[in-house]
Parts: sequence; C-alpha cells; structure tokens
Amino acid sequence: MGSHLARTVAEGRAFMQVIAGRPADALSGRRIDVVCPSDGKIFASIPASDAADVDAAVKAARRAFDEGPWSRTPAFERGRCLARLASLVEREAEALAALESRDTGKPIRQGRADAAAAHRYYEFYSGAADKIHGDTIPFLEGYTALTLREPHGVVAGIIPWNYPLQILARVVGAALAMGNTLVIKPAEDASLTAIRMAELALEAGIPEGVVNVVTGYGHEAGAALSAHPMVDYITFTGSPPTGTAIQQAAARNNRGVTMELGGKSPQIVFADADLDEALPVLVNAIIQNGGQTCSAGSRVLIEKPIYDKVAAALAERFAALVAGPHDLDLDLGALINLRQKARVENYVRAAEEAGAKVLARGRIHEQAPKTGFYFPPVLFADVDPAEPLAREEVFGPVLALFAFEDEAEAVRLANGTEYGLVAGIWTRDGARQHRMAKRVRAGQVFVNAYGAGGGVELPFGGFKKSGHGREKGFEALFHMSATKTVVFRHG
Ligand code: NAD
Repeated sequence: MGSHLARTVAEGRAFMQVIAGRPADALSGRRIDVVCPSDGKIFASIPASDAADVDAAVKAARRAFDEGPWSRTPAFERGRCLARLASLVEREAEALAALESRDTGKPIRQGRADAAAAHRYYEFYSGAADKIHGDTIPFLEGYTALTLREPHGVVAGIIPWNYPLQILARVVGAALAMGNTLVIKPAEDASLTAIRMAELALEAGIPEGVVNVVTGYGHEAGAALSAHPMVDYITFTGSPPTGTAIQQAAARNNRGVTMELGGKSPQIVFADADLDEALPVLVNAIIQNGGQTCSAGSRVLIEKPIYDKVAAALAERFAALVAGPHDLDLDLGALINLRQKARVENYVRAAEEAGAKVLARGRIHEQAPKTGFYFPPVLFADVDPAEPLAREEVFGPVLALFAFEDEAEAVRLANGTEYGLVAGIWTRDGARQHRMAKRVRAGQVFVNAYGAGGGVELPFGGFKKSGHGREKGFEALFHMSATKTVVFRHG
C-alpha cells in the first residue's frame, strides 16, 4: 500500500480503553482485532468489554458527577477546558486524521475534514458553555419564578463507525458544556480515535471520570450501557433497529434519549437549476465517505424536461470515480467491513433483478489490495419507488434517479420514504424555494447547496424514522440538559 505513514499508524498496538482517567483492559481480558478496511489486515486490538467493564465506567462517571468537581465547575471554566481540548485536537489533527483513515478506510482527505470538524465542535461548545441560561417567568403576585438549565448527570453516547471523530465530538462537546459526565461506547469497527480523545480530554484538564470510553461489541458493552440504571440520558447515532433496542432499554429505566437514525435523503432538481453548481454536489453527496453517511443524498429527483441531460451528466461523472486505499486519497475509500460490502452488493443485485437500469459504475484502483473492502459507485435509473433501493438506507455509494412531473409529484416522492433527515432543493425560483423548504419533511433542508456534515452550528436530526431530538448547534445544549423550575414566595 501507498505511504509509510499508512503502515506505521498504530501498528501492532494493544489499545486500552479509558475508565476513571486510567487506561484499562477488559476485565475478562478479551480483545477485538482492529482491521484496516483498505487491505483487510489486522493491525491493532481493542478491549472487548462487557457488562462488568461498563458498570465500572458508569460508576466512575456517576462519582465524577455526584462528588464533583465537574458538575460544580463554573460554566466558563468548563468552556475553558473545552477550549484547551479544541487546541489539542488542532495540534494533533494530522495524527487523528491518519488514525481515523486507517481505522475506517476513508480517504485521508476525509479524515482531515473529520479532524477539522471535531476541532470546530469543541471550539463551538467551549464558547457556548456560559451562554445558555434559564428564564424568569411572570407569575403570581408575591412570587418570583425562574428556570435553571441543569445537566442530566451521566450521559451515555453510543457512537457509529462512519464518522467516529465528528460524532464523538458533537456528543462530548455539548454534554460537557452543560456539565454532564460521559460514558462513550464507540463502534467495535472504529474505536481508536475515541480512545485518543479520552486521553486528550485528560490532557486538557478535564477531571478523571468525566469522559470514559468503553470499547466492545454492541450486544455486550452497548446493551449493558443502555440498560444501566445509573445512566441518566442516552444519545445514539446508528441504525433504526439498534435505536429501537436502545430506546426499549432506556424505557425500562424511564430515561430520555436522542436518536439519530439515518435517512434516504432526496435532492430535488428543477429544470431551472444551475446544473454547473448542482452536479458536483449531487455526486459528492453520495460518494462522500463511500456513501456511509446518514445524510447521504441517495435519491436524486429530476424534473422531466432535464432528466435525460442530468442523467447523462451524472453517468459521465460516475464512470470516472475511483475507489482505493485511504492513503491514495481517491474519490472513495473502502467500505467499513465485509458485512457492509455484502449488504451494499445485495441491494444492487436486487435492484438489477427488479429491472432497474445501471447507467454507470466507477472502478477500483489498480493498486488497491485484493483483500480490501472496495465497492465502486453505481448509478441507477428506472428504480421502482416501491423497491428497497428506493426506500431503504443502503449506506454505500449507490445513487438512484427518479423523474418527476411537477412540484406536487416532487414533494410526494421526496416524502415517500419512512425517513426524513436531509433534503436538497435546486431551483432559481425564490417562491418555489420557500414552498419546497416548507413542504419537504426533513430535519435539514439545503437550497442550492447540500452538506449536513459541515456547519457545527446547525441543528441536525430527523423526522419520522430518522429519529428525534437534535444534535449540533445551540439546540443540542437543550437536549443535553433539563429545565428546573424554582419558585420563591416572598410576599
Ligand atoms: P449499529 O446501529 O448496530 O451500530 C452503531 C453503534 O451501536 C455501535 O457502537 C454498536 O456497537 C452499537 N450497538 C449495536 N447493537 C447494540 C445494542 N443492542 N445495544 C446498544 N448498542 C448497540 O450499526 P451497524 O450494525 O454497525 O451498521 C448497520 C447499518 O446501520 C448500516 O448498514 C447503516 O445502514 C446503518 N448505520 C447508520 C449510521 C448513521 O449514522 N445513521 C451509522 C452506522 C450505521
């Protein structure tokens, strides 16, 4: 494979999780092999924790919350800790990007973008920590009523493998800004940067036990964390079935949750759109991170008069796309694992069998190891809107095109899945921009643009099966805290 860097990052290292400020192995001693998707080879290992390790981490977070000093640290001091963490992430950006790329197979360019976004999250929430406050409320004569915004306590963050650095940063940033303590369970396929972030949090002066990272499988460590009675709030990003399981566990303890569960996001292209602007964005929105993005623009709806033209232009671009090792920094890297690759292949095969037409396929770079988990992008036309490819989250670089007659049909198609995370609208007509932005059911709507990943300031989350609660921006701080009402009777 390409560079020396790619081989040396974390080679042979037995990573430790971080519990109560100390490196810890799993109590059972079991480990999980860490595989680089670019060549399918094992290069490191992480602890395979279970309920006993989770219990130790939750108790450490509980102690750090109940006994302090974190929960009694003034908001501006918490902000300063986050500012120091932001500086450390900036200092280590290149190392974090290299670790993330090797762990997930994403092109190094994407790893760098993820490290930059993580830095921005800590920076944003460092500034926000002392700017969120309660209200005073006009009440009865002789009373003063006010609200305080208080932390939940111990927050569990269950993180997926697609953007570990970024998703961890948005959870940790918002939770710490509000004074919570945390137990993070990163995905078994991509835990390395989460471990590094817990180490950096300590270096930034965030007290021991405030940020704990427990690695392990979802059905063991993840399930134990979501069911733990000392956890006060859970935030999860990942698949809907796992989200349902976590909500059921949380419901048994009557705990609150934020759920970010993916999408089948449409981009709607009207005949008056600026196609020079739109085309590269339409392509990028489905190939970024190999399509393993909850906000991937996986459906493009095209107004009939320009359908053939747009389809031909997209086909030309798709045919030129190349997937290969992360350090070659091509259009796409490898998919995360063989299971994900098989899943994407199954969707493509089923769509072809159902009569959908392949307009173009990208290719795999000649230097890509045969043992890597590569899947070249595929562009489909004539997909039946009832087919799984048109309705379900594929989580791969597979784009489906649909034609529409008028605005009403565009809205019907756009809203015609169970998801509602992000939408893109491409038109120069100002009145239509406003109408469409209101009628499309999605948590984020971009007009003549697309890019949920950018913009740490922008609230993000879904309608319908895409989940509930909001992450990112100021809005996340409301979900990471609870309102306490205090009433004084003074006569
Ligand atoms: P997943 O949702 O099962 O895993 C996400 C996280 O949840 C991981 O940390 C995992 O260990 C944990 N987890 C798994 N089972 C758990 C349980 N019972 N209790 C608590 N935690 C548990 O995702 P996956 O199986 O790795 O991927 C499957 C599909 O999910 C993908 O093909 C994709 O469609 C979707 N996905 C979506 C996102 C997103 O950002 N929306 C992210 C990852 C995966």
